[in-house]
Amino acid sequence: MSRAVLLSCPVCDAVRALDGRRSDHSKTDIISTAKRHLRTHQLSESKAAIRAHQITYEALEILVSGDDIDRLPVEAWRQPTATWLPEDVPVPAAQTAGATLSQTDDD
Ligand SMILES: [Zn+2]
Repeated sequence: MSRAVLLSCPVCDAVRALDGRRSDHSKTDIISTAKRHLRTHQLSESKAAIRAHQITYEALEILVSGDDIDRLPVEAWRQPTATWLPEDVPVPAAQTAGATLSQTDDD
C-alpha cells in the first residue's frame, strides 16, 4: 500500500494528489500547490490565501494500493469526475453536488 495526500479545491471541487504521507509535505509546499491552482480562479489575494489555507487544512492522507497511486491526479488538478479516486474517499463534488455553496463563495 502507498500513501498519498489528497487536496480538494473548495472553489471548483478539483482534486490533486501528492505522493507520500501528509508529514512528507510541508505546510508551505501544500499552500503553494494550492495557491498555484487558486490563481486560475482569479480570487482576490486575501481570499486566495484563505482558500489555500482551507485546502491545506482539509488535506487528507489516503491509503491506496501501489498500482492505484498512478491513477490519482498527481500531475495536475482534475475534476473528481475526470479522474480516479479511491471509493471510500469523501469527494466534495460527489457528495454535495447541488448543495448550497458556502456563503464565503460570494464577494
Ligand atoms: Zn479550483
